Amino acid sequence: MRLTVSSIPETGIEEEFKLPVTLGEVKLEKDAGVTLKASRLGDRVFLSGRIRSEASLECCRCLKNVLLPLDINFDVEYVLFTGAGAEEEEHELTSEELDVGFCRDGEINIDDIVREQVLLAVPMKPLCGADCKGICSGCGTNLNVGSCECGAEEIDPRLAPLEKLKKLLMNENRKERSKNA
Ligand SMILES: [Zn+2]
Ligand SMILES: [Zn+2]
Repeated sequence: MRLTVSSIPETGIEEEFKLPVTLGEVKLEKDAGVTLKASRLGDRVFLSGRIRSEASLECCRCLKNVLLPLDINFDVEYVLFTGAGAEEEEHELTSEELDVGFCRDGEINIDDIVREQVLLAVPMKPLCGADCKGICSGCGTNLNVGSCECGAEEIDPRLAPLEKLKKLLMNENRKERSKNA
C-alpha cells in the first residue's frame, strides 16, 4: 500500500486497514490490522499508528512454535523532497533528521513501514519460555518434555572453547605424568 502525500488533507487522515505482511522467516498468523494517522505540515509528513497481529515464531532452543501477540505503536516522520537534485545534495542531515525517512517520489510505502515495525518488535532469538531447556545435542530429546538418557553433556556453546582448553590441559598433565613415571 502506498500513501500519496498530496492526497493527505490539511486536517489529516485516519485510516484502518488490513495488510498481509511477509518477513522472510517470520510468519504472521493473520493479516496485520493497521490504524494509520497521517498529517502534513509543509514538507513534513507525520505518520502514527498501531499494528496488531500475531507472529508465528520458532523457539530458538527447542524449535517449538511460539505465537507472539503483536501490538505495536509507532511514530515516523518523512521529509518530502520536491526541489531540484542539487538542492537535495546540499541538504545536510542534522542529527534530528537521521530518524526521519525521505520521500522522493511523493509517495510513502506503508508496507515498508509496517514490515520494519514488525521486525523491530519480533525478538531475534524467540523463546517458548525463559526457562526453555532446549533439545539435547546428543539424542535430540526435547528436554522440556522428558529427560534424556544418552548422557551427552550439555555444553553451553559459549563455554565450548573453555571445555576444549580443559581437555587439552588434562592431556598435557597426563603426558607429564607418564613422562615422570
Ligand atoms: Zn523452547
Ligand atoms: Zn540426549
